[in-house]
Order: sequence, then structure tokens, then C-alpha cells
Amino acid sequence: MRDGDTVRRFLFERFPVRGYVVHLDASWRALVEHHDYPPVIRDTLGEAAAATVLLASTLKFEGLLTLQMQGPGPMHLLVSQATHRMAIRAVARFQGELPPERRLQSLAGTEGHVTVTIESEDRTNRYQGIVPLVGDGLAACLQHYFERSEQLPTRLWLAATPERAAGLLLQRLPTGASASSEEDEMQAAEGDENWNRVLHLAQTLTPDELVKLPGSELLRRLFHEEDVRMFDAGPVFFQCTCSRERVTGILRSLGEREVMSVVEERGEVEVRCEFCNRAYRYDAVDVAGLFAATPAAGPSAALQ
Ligand SMILES: [Zn+2]
Repeated sequence: MRDGDTVRRFLFERFPVRGYVVHLDASWRALVEHHDYPPVIRDTLGEAAAATVLLASTLKFEGLLTLQMQGPGPMHLLVSQATHRMAIRAVARFQGELPPERRLQSLAGTEGHVTVTIESEDRTNRYQGIVPLVGDGLAACLQHYFERSEQLPTRLWLAATPERAAGLLLQRLPTGASASSEEDEMQAAEGDENWNRVLHLAQTLTPDELVKLPGSELLRRLFHEEDVRMFDAGPVFFQCTCSRERVTGILRSLGEREVMSVVEERGEVEVRCEFCNRAYRYDAVDVAGLFAATPAAGPSAALQ
């Protein structure tokens, strides 16, 4: 399908509003293929994955954006991540009886919250914003997140089916007007009018249209009376960041006794990545190696 697994930036030529539209196909199916998610969880995860790509698209950063939903409800944890290269991964954990409807407060619990964390690649910079679960869906929650963190006015529309996850984001950009002169006031009023008109047009979008229409067609249909400049769509792909090195670190932190007891019982330790289902296996010899004294720095280390 055209525009599949892409995120596309667009601009309104006559006033300072920009947007992004994302469609996840193969990347979305890869996220769910090893999981048996009930529909309410699956669709929530799809919307979260689309939202994560949109949020990461608005940033100028090199690193990782993590959207996490946590709460005391049956869906107690949802994690969705996107790198600046638009590599995505996501997982949801749930237990017990699920609500029939897809309200976040019913799924994650009324005391649940959404956390957005942005980390630079070298992990020297970290920003985190936390918002309670407000409104019915993730789009409303994220709108609240943008308001709370005093970022630019932003609205999102999200939708997911077993085959596709999609999202639209609109963001009002600053004009540079100071509201101190009459001219600036007029400009601000005009800006409000344009922003409200664009939002009103976007509200007419149905979840079905958002999921099914290719991004370019969707924009043309919604904003055909506006002057919209569309940029080339960039790829989004599924990629897990798990590695044997990371799993080794987790096992080390558990301690030798704990890990050895599993080996004695089962003959090996198997750690399966929740995101991609990849299995990492360690037999008795591997485990012994994990907890052997760290070797003295060899010549290769000395060269660095
Ligand atoms: Zn993995």
C-alpha cells in the first residue's frame, strides 16, 4: 500500500501550522506477531506506536523517545519507543479481566499515567514529562502533555486495526509576534482563526479514513482548500535494540546464585526479549563465564 510504514511532514504555506501523518503496516504487524493481544490491548498499542512516531518526528534530536503508560488496571504497562531514525518497538503487559471498551482509564486504571521520556543517544541529556490519564484516549492525554510541558499547541488523531496503525499530528508554530502592537494583535487573532479552522477540518476525519487513506490523499481530502506543502515521506521500521550484551548485564545484576539455581533446575537459562521474542540462551559454561572475575585489561583495551 502506498505510504505504508512512513511518516510524512507537511506545512501550511499561508500560516504557521505544521503536521505529520504516519502509517504503520509491516512494522506494526511485526510489533504484534509474537503476541496474542486481545483487540482492546492491540488497538491501544497501535495508537501508542503511531503516537510515538509522531512525537519523535516533531523533535530535533538524536536518541530515543519512550512513551510509557502505567497504572494499577489490567493493562498495567505499555512501552512504545522510537529512535530519531524511526526504528520502533513496543510491548504491552496485561492480566486479569479486560474492559470491553478501549478507555485508557478502564484499561490502565484511573490512577494511571503516561510518561514521555526523551534521551539523547549518548544518554547525557534526558527530558521527562508525566501526565495523568485524562479524556478517553491517548490523543487527549498527549494533548494535555503538550499543554502541561508548555510546548507548542498540538493535536493528535490516532487509529489502529490488526493490519495498520495510523496517526495525524497538527502543531501551531510560533509567529514571533509579541502581542504588544496592534499589528501583532491582529496577526495573533488571524493565527487563532487559521488554527481553529484547520482543527475543525481535521475533526471531520474518521478513524476508518485515517487508517485506510494514504497520507498524501488524506491531506488532500482534508485540506483541499488550504495551501499545503507536503514533504517526502520518510521510512519507519521495526527494530529491536535488545542484544546479548544487554541480557548478560541483566543476568549479572540478578547475581550468581539466582542464575545458577535456574541452570541447575533447567539445564540452561533462557531470556526472551518481550519486544521481539528473540531468545538468549546461557548454559552452565556461559553462566560460569558471566560471573568469572573480570579479566585484566588486555592489549586491545590498552589501545583505546
Ligand atoms: Zn528484542
